[in-house]
Amino acid sequence: MKCLFAANWKMNKSCREASEYPRALETQLKDVPFQIGKDYDVLLAPMSLQLAELGKQIEGKGIGLAAQNSGPGKSGAYTGELSPASIKELGCRWVILGHSERRHVFKEDDLLVLKRAQAAMEEGLNVMLCVGELLQDRKTGSTNQVIEAQLKILTEKKLPPDFAQRLIIAYEPVWAIGTGENATPEQAQEVHAFIRQWFSDKISAQAASQLRILYGGSVKPENAGEIMAEPDVDGLLVGSASLDPSVFAGVIKNGLKSKTVGGK
Ligand code: PEP
Repeated sequence: MKCLFAANWKMNKSCREASEYPRALETQLKDVPFQIGKDYDVLLAPMSLQLAELGKQIEGKGIGLAAQNSGPGKSGAYTGELSPASIKELGCRWVILGHSERRHVFKEDDLLVLKRAQAAMEEGLNVMLCVGELLQDRKTGSTNQVIEAQLKILTEKKLPPDFAQRLIIAYEPVWAIGTGENATPEQAQEVHAFIRQWFSDKISAQAASQLRILYGGSVKPENAGEIMAEPDVDGLLVGSASLDPSVFAGVIKNGLKSKTVGGK
């Protein structure tokens, strides 16, 4: 499976900083003996108003783009929302949906996440669906139930038939996001294995084996290698440590060392 490193910049970076980033990242990754896009994937998720310029800056670099959210319908009376078709027009192929900040700060529920996913996929975007439990859920032993409830939107037959091939799951324990406290590799593996098994049971064994499951939550160069060493961790979704291209490159380099890439 091709591994993926995704950078979620959230509401950070000026437009100038954003536009300079792809070239800086490319420089930082010069000594990596693998090719972005061919051997492994990199996605940048800037603020949406930076997608157009970044689309130009990533040209020929193999880097992909993701929006941080997209509208719950194709078009219409959705003030403040972003139409999936326009996102796609800018050369962006991915959208992050259900991020914990959307769920918990902006109170987006599963139904709204499903509507966003439906509109996005019908307009041809691919979806990175974020799931994750609160600290309270983990303490009470209900992590798997919470994850399962968030995944349930995938079984409601609202998404296009090929949705599983256009989906990535990002497991992001809410207590680990932006806190400096990452899940242990074992904790991440346990939930990733649960997600893959759930996919196998509810969608199909083939979809489960091809599904990329990313871990996110206080990933940094120092812990990227050990987390990526887990068999069901196919990539990383990185917030704070993605803001500086040299630090994000450190995450990528250490992460790649733990996987077989390009046959090596
Ligand atoms: C995120 O917001 O998706 C994230 C994982 O943030 P951080 O890496 O800062 O914990």
